[in-house]
Amino acid sequence: MNFNQRLECNTCKTYVDCRIGMSNRDVQPISFACPTCGEGILIELNLDKGFKYTGAKSIHFDGPFTNENPFVDLHLDFPVIFGEYKMGHTPFMKAIGRIGHENFKTHNARLNALNFLYPKLEDFKRILRLYSKNKKLFGQLCESKFGEKLRSEKPEDLNLALYCVIAKVFFPFSMQEENADSVKLHMQAMHDALNKDKVGFDAFINELFDTDFLHNIQQDCLELYPQILAGELAFRPALFLDFDANYEKELVAFRVSAHDFQRYKDLYKDISEVMSRELILVAGLNNLIHRGDFNKFKNTGKNTPKSLHAYADLPYGFKTSHLDDCWYSIGDGAVNNQLRNSIAHGKVEYDEITQQITYFPKKEGIKQEKSESIYFLDFMRSILISYREMHRMHQLIKCLFNYYYLIHQKPA
Ligand SMILES: [Zn+2]
Repeated sequence: MNFNQRLECNTCKTYVDCRIGMSNRDVQPISFACPTCGEGILIELNLDKGFKYTGAKSIHFDGPFTNENPFVDLHLDFPVIFGEYKMGHTPFMKAIGRIGHENFKTHNARLNALNFLYPKLEDFKRILRLYSKNKKLFGQLCESKFGEKLRSEKPEDLNLALYCVIAKVFFPFSMQEENADSVKLHMQAMHDALNKDKVGFDAFINELFDTDFLHNIQQDCLELYPQILAGELAFRPALFLDFDANYEKELVAFRVSAHDFQRYKDLYKDISEVMSRELILVAGLNNLIHRGDFNKFKNTGKNTPKSLHAYADLPYGFKTSHLDDCWYSIGDGAVNNQLRNSIAHGKVEYDEITQQITYFPKKEGIKQEKSESIYFLDFMRSILISYREMHRMHQLIKCLFNYYYLIHQKPA
């Protein structure tokens, strides 16, 4: 269902014609920037209470839009395009046209799950906080809020409950089979490392636990999940693109009808920092598989890291270059170093009206000339892809914990 509304911007008094497509979410905070003056306009639709406006007011108009005013299509669940009003060419109809009915059903199932899960954000945060602080309360909440029973307070069972809750809450953000496939891959790598040199493998495990590295990196990962769930509104159109085969080719200026760039820019940086630390585990295993010693990197000259410890301090880009013939391959587009660095150094601009992000990756002193640009939707897509990669490597952390608790610690 769609509502056509004519709004008057409070700031510049221009009229904006809006077609608002309904989502199934109980509360729908739809936002965009006034096409004329850039002022933020929020339309909040509550299925019980109707519409509420911030930054603009609704005014009466007769009959269909005639394109005399700027026109915006708005829908939380799909990418939308601004420009010309055409009756019947709604975001919903266009979305089905782009991905077909079968894919649409899958997308819709994810959206329905998000509608159900987003109000549980605070419960989920509480579970993460209690995981390492209060086993009893942790177990009670896992069961009462997410139906996961804690079998015992042994660390392996605490982890089992934790990872079952994560799998339940985050399935709308993942691709099918993703968890199972990555666990299989990690188990095989650990198996290969063990077969190559059991003593070396045990030394690696001891190092991870003696230094608390595995616990710390697990904590770093866990801190990211609530931010992903909290961003579900802006991720919806990015999730749609999982099914849109033409997205990469067409370079359409799709828009997102929720929030904006400023709110998510740090998340991208934070995820890539965690990924960079997760790579330490990948590298340790790779060294074990090839050379039986987690500290031993392939000799590539004087820049070869002397140990895993030294490797840990390298920037992300250098880290990947020391993964020779690696058992784990990082997905395409998981990290855009230039974008990440530009954000980290504040060299990025955002145009609220066009939703275009411009960043300046070249270091040029005070001149900022060579720029790259992407749209906010592409940016949310990048966060989603890097989140998935972070999550895939997090499965390795889970497997290493299991090995430690179930095998390594048991007396022979
Ligand atoms: Zn305005």
